[in-house]
Amino acid sequence: MALKADLSHFLDEEGNELELTEQAKAVFKFLTKIVSSVSENIEQPLIDVDLKCNTRAEGLSCEGDIEAMCIAIGIIEWHCDTCEASGSISNWQESMWDKQERTIH
Ligand SMILES: [Zn+2]
Repeated sequence: MALKADLSHFLDEEGNELELTEQAKAVFKFLTKIVSSVSENIEQPLIDVDLKCNTRAEGLSCEGDIEAMCIAIGIIEWHCDTCEASGSISNWQESMWDKQERTIH
């Protein structure tokens, strides 16, 4: 089951984190970690994110590692190297977790 996440759903108009439930917070932390790792290494085809699958949600026991890549402009896809868990993240660009170097004009 793929988790389709839109980062903007977790943020208010200024780009700050909304009041989230504990469960949503865990997901949000997971997603933003992927976003910062991928955007830091955007030129790499596949990025090993320093995250375990079980940090996705409480009660998960999968010890797999998360791998992610930017598949298209503005779309990150991630998957667990052990189980079926996977997902995509959109609307992360320009957020505070977007670590891409910006050209200053
Ligand atoms: Zn897993």
